[in-house]
Amino acid sequence: DIWNSLISKRSGLSKTIEDTNHRIGSNAEPSNKENVTTTSNGSLVNTSFVVKDNITTTQEETTSASQMLSNYKSPFNATVVSLLSAEGSKLVGKANLDELGMGSSSTNTFYGPVINPLYYKENDDNTKHIAGGSSGGSAAAVAAKLATFSLGTDTGGSVRLPASYCGVIGFKPTYGRISRWGVVPYAQTLDTVGVLSEDINIVEKVYRVLNQYDSKDPTSLPENTRQEIITTKTSDLSFLTIGLPEEFIIEDLSEEVKEIWVSVLANLQKMGHKVKTVSIPSIRHSLSAYYTLVTAEAASNLSRYDGVRYGYSVDDIQGSAHDMIVANRTKAFGAEVQRRILLGNYTLSSDSGDHYKKATQVRERLVKEFNQVFNLPHALVADDIDLSTGKCDILLSPTSIGSPPPIEEYLQQTEENFLNAYINDILTVPASLAGLPAISLPFGNHGIQIMGQFGDDDTVLALSKSLL
Ligand code: GLN
Repeated sequence: DIWNSLISKRSGLSKTIEDTNHRIGSNAEPSNKENVTTTSNGSLVNTSFVVKDNITTTQEETTSASQMLSNYKSPFNATVVSLLSAEGSKLVGKANLDELGMGSSSTNTFYGPVINPLYYKENDDNTKHIAGGSSGGSAAAVAAKLATFSLGTDTGGSVRLPASYCGVIGFKPTYGRISRWGVVPYAQTLDTVGVLSEDINIVEKVYRVLNQYDSKDPTSLPENTRQEIITTKTSDLSFLTIGLPEEFIIEDLSEEVKEIWVSVLANLQKMGHKVKTVSIPSIRHSLSAYYTLVTAEAASNLSRYDGVRYGYSVDDIQGSAHDMIVANRTKAFGAEVQRRILLGNYTLSSDSGDHYKKATQVRERLVKEFNQVFNLPHALVADDIDLSTGKCDILLSPTSIGSPPPIEEYLQQTEENFLNAYINDILTVPASLAGLPAISLPFGNHGIQIMGQFGDDDTVLALSKSLL
């Protein structure tokens, strides 16, 4: 019923994610060095973890799957790594990713593609499917049972999408809850560390360890905001109102994904929760706003990699300092990264008109629209528009529009269809732009995404536990 009442209101994108491009890779190998202090007591003893290779560790290089950082060894551990080690968890490896977090496939990497273990196990014909990205190695590592849990980073869906493709849980907490100190930046106003595991109780435990203020991260939520969130959070978890954003009903959703979405909603109704449709119109502009903002932030961030202060240097360059920097960056950044630097620099130049400003306006409006549909107030932003669509506690959607394609098929990018690679982010970028907590839960071979109000991570986790 829920579905039928909505199906007529499709909005849409007509492209599919098939036939896209890029290169691939997996370097999640156990580490044999031991210079992180791991205690024998703590809430995470007898667990092991893998971190995405854009999170610094002194144990191994931190390459971000880029040739640019292929020899980079960090002198310090990221705060998240130190916190986990202090609770007794053992770091066993670094995980492959899309270069510097840019991509949805874990094929944009200097080390070769990540292979999806879920599909590899199930297929007899040795077809290798993409693991999703950019935290594909982190998702594959837990799906292949190489570690109890892993850390990824999620700027626009990079924890949730690979979790969905690999059949595991992927949680992106509220922006600012978990320290980004020691995380190689992609787009700082969105970058969020997330947790992946097959076990929701482990996801929650790890989140509780990491959920703390860090004075080294200027975007870390301060203590008083954290306290404020605790006093306003959703109180009655047994009867929630679940919102179904109609902007997520897009033509590209596969039949299987739609069926799973409907069955989870029906199950929630059976459990006593109420389901209602809501409208968040700016979701339709989220993908364009997202790619405008992230490329601008990335172009600016990535200017530090010149092969002098940081990064790979080409030998024997003749010419000026400028020629040397151009040669280093041209050689050591992959095609997707170079594409985004060009786009970002264009956006930030005066030639581009007001693209950047418009994207920030879409983002602001999106946050306000989310505030209108959630019962809880936002801890940082006041409401001032009324969409009169009704209130809810949680939003529920699929995480991805379909199944992961075979790697070979994905890499057949042509001039006409390379944009298809970006479409799969449509369901995940809205929560990122607004900084909302969002989790992907595995149902069959697909992921269902639960989103909560800014700061309301507890409701997202509580509902997830009741569903699994
Ligand atoms: N696929 C999105 C992008 O390429 C999201 C990546 C991410 O969350 N790091 O930007």
